[in-house]
Amino acid sequence: MAVQWLLVCHGLVTLLVLVSFLCGQWPIFQGTFIHTIHNFLTFGAFDYFRRFVEFVFGSRGSNALHLTQYYCCDRPNPILQAIYLAIVGGTYYLIVSSIFNYIPGHYIGGYHRYTSLLAVSVGILLFLLTSFSDPGTINAENVSQYLSVYPYDNIIYSEKECSTCKILKPARSKHCSICDRCVARFDHHCGWMNNCIGEKNTLYFVMFLLWHFFLCVYGTVAIGLVLAGRLKELEVVYILTAYYGIEDSFRSLAPHVVQWLLGSYNTQILLMVFLAIVSLLLSGFFGYHASLCLSNTTTNETFKWQDYLSWQRKVKEAKASAEALNASLGDLRQEIKPPESKWKSFFRRSHLEDVEIIKNNIYDRASSKIFTRSFIRFHHDPHSQHIIIIIINLKRGKDVGFVFSYGGVIQFSLV
Ligand SMILES: [Zn+2]
Ligand SMILES: [Zn+2]
Repeated sequence: MAVQWLLVCHGLVTLLVLVSFLCGQWPIFQGTFIHTIHNFLTFGAFDYFRRFVEFVFGSRGSNALHLTQYYCCDRPNPILQAIYLAIVGGTYYLIVSSIFNYIPGHYIGGYHRYTSLLAVSVGILLFLLTSFSDPGTINAENVSQYLSVYPYDNIIYSEKECSTCKILKPARSKHCSICDRCVARFDHHCGWMNNCIGEKNTLYFVMFLLWHFFLCVYGTVAIGLVLAGRLKELEVVYILTAYYGIEDSFRSLAPHVVQWLLGSYNTQILLMVFLAIVSLLLSGFFGYHASLCLSNTTTNETFKWQDYLSWQRKVKEAKASAEALNASLGDLRQEIKPPESKWKSFFRRSHLEDVEIIKNNIYDRASSKIFTRSFIRFHHDPHSQHIIIIIINLKRGKDVGFVFSYGGVIQFSLV
């Protein structure tokens, strides 16, 4: 029984570490121990390690550590790509060595040996496409094309030159300091892909997230079916009820069945828990990026809007405070003024409450207003030489465009 509890604790600790590391900075976890663990994992642990290296090896050690940090975090490198391939390869190897013996089973067909390989191969193909495709690099030749496609809103994007590339920065673009290039419709630099996510590879990236979510769900369900099949084939329920005299009810049988599964198939259970946790995390990532796609915005723009709105709010608050101060000074200058009713002053709204910021985003607008019915239309875009299929999403009133280039390579854009 001790081994089973050890496995349960191992699963819980893995879940806690994964959730803290990947989601600990989310507002929902602010001020909780998950946020504290996140800070420790992302910064605190490294800081302690840096101090330890400096203490043991002196300035030489800390310089070497700085160089390593620079190479790993600030320069393009394939470390996370190798880790991704190791995780996928290692997990698939464990599945082949510990699950394939039981396929075909009572609830699962033999063809899953091949479909699982196909599913993993498609996942790796999407990974390679996202990693090695051009995210939409802007250069002197194509800058005019991007400038005409994305107009400046003069709010979060205004006309200016990239100080490194020495070309105009089109709206929605960003200079990636890691890749050292300007990228159109920049979303973020993805360390796992060792590539920027921009206009031309957003589709691959979103498909990568969705496919890996389904891949993990597929793995979880398939292992569950294999284990259910083993229970059936070995007649575990019959043995427990007939030979051990356990009552034939779910409540009585469940603890014994779980104990038997944990004792006999611990590797398979761990794999199933691991895949279930990763599928949950991937559903969160996919949901976030799908919502960005539906509102035709990017991660980079989300941060820019947050900064802009926060700055605007501060400016308006400062103005409101100045006006309130002026009004108070005016009141003091008046020689005779009847005192304001206590009740009136109690219910009077603060000037600061009047601060209202309007997010005037021109990029999340589309031509859906002119359409009254949901349909698909084909539209020729003269700038990008693409055929754009616009799908009208009536519920949200947003257009989602999928761009297919004439060359046959699928590209993606939101219009
Ligand atoms: Zn640049
Ligand atoms: Zn980059």
